[in-house]
Formats: sequence, structure tokens, C-alpha cells
Amino acid sequence: MSKPKAPSRRRSQEAFKEASTHFPGGVNSPVRSWRSVGMNEEGPFFVARAKGSELVDLDGKRYVDFVGSWGPMILGHGHAKVVQALRKQAQRGVSYGCPTDLESRLARRVKRVLPSIEKLRFVSSGSEAVMHALRLARGFTKREKILKFEGCYHGASDAVLVKAGSGAATFGVPDSAGVPESVAQHTLTVPYNDLAAAREAIASAKGNLASVILEPVVGNSGVLPPEPGFLEGLAKAAKEAGALLIFDEVMTGFRVGPSSAQGLFGIKPDLTTLGKILGGGLPCAAYGGRADVMDSVAPLGPVYQAGTLSGNPLAMAAGIATLDELKDKACYERLEKLSVQVVASIAQAAKDAGWSEKICINRVGSMFTVFFCKGPVRNFAEAKAADGAAFGRFFRGMLARGVYLPPSPFEAAFVNLAFRPKDLKRIARAARETFAEI
Ligand SMILES: *Cc1c(COP(=O)(O)O)cnc(C)c1O
Repeated sequence: MSKPKAPSRRRSQEAFKEASTHFPGGVNSPVRSWRSVGMNEEGPFFVARAKGSELVDLDGKRYVDFVGSWGPMILGHGHAKVVQALRKQAQRGVSYGCPTDLESRLARRVKRVLPSIEKLRFVSSGSEAVMHALRLARGFTKREKILKFEGCYHGASDAVLVKAGSGAATFGVPDSAGVPESVAQHTLTVPYNDLAAAREAIASAKGNLASVILEPVVGNSGVLPPEPGFLEGLAKAAKEAGALLIFDEVMTGFRVGPSSAQGLFGIKPDLTTLGKILGGGLPCAAYGGRADVMDSVAPLGPVYQAGTLSGNPLAMAAGIATLDELKDKACYERLEKLSVQVVASIAQAAKDAGWSEKICINRVGSMFTVFFCKGPVRNFAEAKAADGAAFGRFFRGMLARGVYLPPSPFEAAFVNLAFRPKDLKRIARAARETFAEI
């Protein structure tokens, strides 16, 4: 199998054509359009079904799936226990708008591994969790400003769709049309892994800083690990300034270890946001943390938050089944081993084809990114300096050989527990052939 025959993509292309008449860009979330890998004409494959490590597209082609619904599918697709839990719950009703004990059962499982969370609220998406966590931080501290880091993604709400210009701390400039300057100006942004810049920004807020929010391991610039001392230094600086530290663990939660990034690095944030794996692939997210802070949320306190589908029984059931599977610590050891093997095989393929000086692979647990530059890649500016066209060729080469990587150079690839030895072989062979070709 040297040069793979271009597979028929007829059905996917027809589906994309119709979808484009219904949805802007043919999709319901922008990265799904594959524009950033040079495939905006062709469009993405459309998925017919998925099982274990694989996706099957409408044209019947199979792919080893490194996207896993952008993180949630750590157990693989269609895990028997999750499916069983969903079936059982669906027969009892899918939504009541009343409390159920499923919510407490999932909460107990969250708190068991994340002791920083004393109380929490379930919501339906990571964006929603972050939006409410920030409102809560503002309401609790009675302050206005927040500090975030360039290249950290915290969902699509106004306050966090802001990044800085280069250099020192600057007042926010909106990153999206439709975000008022008057909102963005309260968001300070500095480069990730730059503690000095963060300290300066905190000082510049002059006692009006409600929160410091970050991805404790960045996944949304591609994977960027925190440098030694960065998280500790930030926690200390936030505390001294009286600002709440929010770890956005929507991606890293239950991904980089059972106790997530906060356990891995031994830091206790004031608030945490969770999503993705928490709902096992169903719409589910949460924010939580210190009980004194959480008690400011309505109906106990003055900070309003509500949701018709919050704590949805199906989502709770899938979350409970997923976290129960992950209770076995051996899961994370197995995931680590699989991830080491996968990344080693990609690195070896690059080396054999003379690419090793031109790429840099960042990995934390089962999250990794292949950056097409020499490295190290420590922040968003360095991630952006990588060769995007080369990444696009890599993506397309792997895709043609049945391996689906995230369709953007600024995303994390995920290894999941359903990867089998034959998937690893397929990945290694695809990488060898792709690096030799591009
Ligand atoms: C995915 C993600 C979000 C947004 O979650 P949605 O469920 O897509 O709204 C927020 N923060 C981080 C770190 C994420 O990775």
C-alpha cells in the first residue's frame, strides 16, 4: 500500500453540499469544516457510525479516530457499559426538569477524584460552564477584570473570546465580531508560560481582578505543557491579589489522570470547569469549587445561573458509566503506554524520512500535537510559527491512509482506551508513508 488510491467521497460530498444550504459553512461548529487543512472545497467526511477506536464515513471508509469527539470518547465509541446505561435511562425518561439522584451520584464521583470541588453545578456545555464560573468569580469578588492566556480556549462566550497583541499585558481586543469592546476591555491577556507578564497584568488591574483563568495544560493551541513553576507561581500571584484561580479542565479533566491536571501538578484551584469526558459523549459540563464561593449561586446567593437541560438524566447516566470505568487506575497506565507507543512510532517515522529536525511533538498523557517546527513550542506565538501547510499535507496523507487526526494544527490529538495493536500498526505505517511522501 504505497500510494493509496483516492477513496470515493461521493456520499460525504453530497451530504456536505446539502448541509451547506442549512448551516453556515455546512457545519454546526467551525473546525469541523476542515478549512484549516486545505480541504474547504472537498469538505469533511460525514460520519455514518463509530465503534471502539474507529469512525466509519458515509462512503464506508474506516478511520482510526484521534479526535474522539474532541476529547470525550476516552473509552472509545459505543462502550458497552455506556450504551447500557443510556438504554436503561432512556426507558425511564430522557428529561424531567426536576432533580434526580443521578446528579448526586455523578457529583460524588467527581468530588472523589477532585477534592478542590466542594460543591458544583452541572450545565450542558463547556462554554456555559466557563461563562458561569466567570460570572460567579465576578459576583463573589465584586470585581470586574479577568486574566486569561493567549491561545487558551475557554468556549465561545464574550468575555473569553479575546486575545492580546504581542508583548506586554494589554487590554483586550475582541477576537470575534460581535463582542463589544466594553466587554473585551475587562479581559487581560498575556502569553502562556510567562509568569512575569502575568504578574504585571495582575498588578495593572489594581485590585479589580476577579479571576485568573487558564487551561492547566493547554490543548487548544495544540498541546502546551505548563513549564515548571508556572502554575504554582500563578496560584500564588492570584491568591495575593485576591483573585479566584479557575482551572479550565474541560479538556484535561479525567484525561491527563483521574484527578486531572490539578492532581497531576498538585495545585488546588478555587474553581474548576469540567466538560467533555464528564458526560461520556453527551452534552454535559460542570463548574464547581470552594463551597463558600459556590454558595453565591442562585437560589442561595445573588449570582444567577439556570438551565432547562442542566443535569440531564441521559447525560448523567453516561457520565456515571464513564467515570466508573475510569475508576480503575490501570486505565491511565494503559493509556500512557498506548500514547508513548503512538508518539514514538510517529517520531520514528519522521526520523526515518528526515523530518525529525523539522517537527516537535508535545505530549501530556494521552493528549499530543505534532508541530511542524523545530521547537520547543511553549506558547501560542511559537505554535503559530509552525508550518501550517506542512501540517495540512500531514493531515491529508494520514487521512488517505485511514487515520483521522484533528483537522487543525492548533488542536490536541487524543489516544483512547479502545486503541488496539492493529490500530497502532496502522498508525505507524500511515506515518511512515506520509512522512516519506510529504
Ligand atoms: C472544549 C473546551 C471548552 C468549550 O467546551 P464546549 O463544550 O465546546 O462548549 C472550554 N474550555 C476548554 C479548555 C475546552 O477544551
